[in-house]
Amino acid sequence: MTPSLVQDIETAAGLLAGATDVTLLGHVRPDADALGSALALGHVLHRRGAKVRVSFGEPDEAPETLAWLDVDGLLTKPVDLPPVDGLLVALDTPTLSRLGRLAPRVAAARESGGSVLVVDHHATNGYYGTHHVVTESAEATAVLVARIIEAMGAELDAPAARSLYAGIVTDTSGFRRASPDTHRIAARLLEAGADPGEVSRRIVDDHPFAWLPMLSAVLAEACLEPEGAQGFGLVHTVVRAAEAATVRSEEVESVIDVVRATREAGVAAVLKETAPGPVWTVSLRSAGDVDVSAAAAEFGGGGHRRAAGCTVAGSADEVLDRLREALGRAPLLRAS
Ligand code: MN
Repeated sequence: MTPSLVQDIETAAGLLAGATDVTLLGHVRPDADALGSALALGHVLHRRGAKVRVSFGEPDEAPETLAWLDVDGLLTKPVDLPPVDGLLVALDTPTLSRLGRLAPRVAAARESGGSVLVVDHHATNGYYGTHHVVTESAEATAVLVARIIEAMGAELDAPAARSLYAGIVTDTSGFRRASPDTHRIAARLLEAGADPGEVSRRIVDDHPFAWLPMLSAVLAEACLEPEGAQGFGLVHTVVRAAEAATVRSEEVESVIDVVRATREAGVAAVLKETAPGPVWTVSLRSAGDVDVSAAAAEFGGGGHRRAAGCTVAGSADEVLDRLREALGRAPLLRAS
C-alpha cells in the first residue's frame, strides 16, 4: 500500500467510527463484492450502535444467493430508503450512473453538508465523493473494506468475515488473481469464522436444475471466431429473454464463466437480452491480452481490463458487429 492509500484508509476509518447514521450503497444489480463489502461494513457499524441501511438502485430484491449474508436485516429497498441524513458510503461503484436511481442521493448528501465516502477498485472511478479510498491495485473492494475495518480497530466476526470473503473469492475468480497480501487477509477472515466451502457453495456453485437446460440452449449457439479480437480469438453467445426467464439472474450471470474457459479465444462475450428493443447487457472477459474495459467504454460501460460490461441496443447481429469493431481497436495488455 502506498502512503497516500494508508492515509485515505485512516481518514475513512475515522469518518466511519464517528458516524451514527450510515447509508451504504452498492452498484445496480449488485454482485458479491458490492453487496458483501456493504454488508460487512454495515454489520460492523450496526454492532457499534449506528443506524445502518444497505441498498442498491435495482432490482428491488437482493440476489437470492447473497441475501443470506444480511444477518442484521440491513437491506432496504430503494423505495423504502429515507432521505440520507448522515454519512453516505458508495462501494464498488466507479461512477454515479452505476448507482442507478439512487445516484441523486449523492448530490443530496453533499448539498446538505454530509460526507460521501467512495470505496472502490475500478480504474475508471470518477471520484464523485467527498472522501475516497480508491485504488486499482486492490483485487476487490472487499479487500479495501477489510483494511478499513482493521483501521477502525473493530473486531472481525463471522458475519463480517463471510461477507468480505464472498467479495474476495468472486472478484479474484477463486483466488486466481489474489496477491500474497490478499491471501493473508483471507486467512484472517477464515480465522474470524468465514467458512470458505459454505460461501463458495452458496454463492458460486449452487444452481437449480433449470440451469442445465438453459445452459444447453445458450451454449448450442456459441460461436468461435479465431481471427476475432485482433487475432487472439473471440467466442460469443447470446442469452435471449425467453431463456433468461427460465432461471434467476445468478444462472444468467454464470454463462460467461463457462464461455470464457474456451482455450482458442482471448476474449469471451455474452449478450444477455435485458429489455425489449432489444437491449443487451454484454459481459466481456479477457484472458489477459486485450483490454476489454476499453471496448466496454465505447458503449458507455466499464469495468476492469480483464472483466467489463456494457449495455447496447440493437439486434444481436448489430451488437456483435459493433463489438467486433471495438475489440479490433482495444489496447493490448502485454507485448506478444
Ligand atoms: Mn469489485
